[in-house]
Amino acid sequence: MMELATLVRKNIQGLTPYSSARGEFSGSAEIFLDANENPFGTFNRYPDPYQQALKKEIAQLKDLPVENIFIGNGSDEAIDLLFRVFCEPGKDKALIFPPTYGMYRVSAQINDVSLIEVPLNNQFLISEASVAPFLKDPLLKLLFVCSPNNPTGNLIPHKTLLRLLKNFSGIVVVDEAYIDFSEGPSALELLPEFPNLVVLQTLSKAWGQAGLRIGFAFGASEIISYLNKVKPPYNVSSANQQQALKALQNSAQFEKNRQLILSEKKRMEKALEKIPGVQKIFPSETNFLLLQIENAPEIYRQLIAQKIIVRNRDRQIENTLRITIGCPSENEKLLQTLQNITS
Ligand SMILES: *Cc1c(COP(=O)(O)O)cnc(C)c1O
Repeated sequence: MMELATLVRKNIQGLTPYSSARGEFSGSAEIFLDANENPFGTFNRYPDPYQQALKKEIAQLKDLPVENIFIGNGSDEAIDLLFRVFCEPGKDKALIFPPTYGMYRVSAQINDVSLIEVPLNNQFLISEASVAPFLKDPLLKLLFVCSPNNPTGNLIPHKTLLRLLKNFSGIVVVDEAYIDFSEGPSALELLPEFPNLVVLQTLSKAWGQAGLRIGFAFGASEIISYLNKVKPPYNVSSANQQQALKALQNSAQFEKNRQLILSEKKRMEKALEKIPGVQKIFPSETNFLLLQIENAPEIYRQLIAQKIIVRNRDRQIENTLRITIGCPSENEKLLQTLQNITS
């Protein structure tokens, strides 16, 4: 890969970041009169701008140095920051493999970055021959690979990631929002070898903390420094940092919930196969099932009428619904309702 700096927008290379009071002095003191905070209350102090306690915990969990970790207000913030650091608006490009997560497109549009789309093949895998011609485009800066992919549920094999990482001199972002539900290896193991790799993970799915808005970008320390330069100084609130730390320290709860979701997924796969009109249940390494069913849009509407909301993915993949695995009673209610609608 080229020098990282040549990939970074000129205005960001030269950016002097906002210097926050808590960033300038973070040591231990008794009297803090530097940030115009109110001396009274519980959440009266600004949060740690670099979330060090939380990063220490993540560093242990992922066996990674703290300088390779960025924490965002959800991984959606990291996606937006990657566009802002690497893509010159109105000029540079990014590449996605649809059908995939919708935020890459939205973030690209917000940042006025044009998007190259290379559709996944009929097995929902990346066709390396189709993507190859684009990799030499000097304006292409970011490539988003979602693995396991939303909404198709499958992993992208490491041999594909390796070829992309080797043949592309821009940044390869591997979004692993669902990796904890998967048997597959995480792309984190490729980080030491590839300075152009960014891996995204989140507390929103397997960790059950979507409300906290905590997402991670893992990458070379130079990339992490640029994300830190561009982020809002206090991007993760102290309430959220504290709750996230609590969640991470309760790995027993995490594992129990994860196992229950996985066993419910197995049960749902078997039960959904027997619903009239079901044509296919795609193999899933996530906490959702992509279901192909006759008249999916109509079934979607009928489920809403029964106050059950699933995701209609008919526009991406014909006659499909994406169903999140809920708790056992929710799953049971869905099955019964589907049975009633279709018979
Ligand atoms: C749910 C999801 C996320 C999570 O985003 P957060 O902002 O961390 O909640 C990221 N990527 C994909 C593909 C997702 O499905």
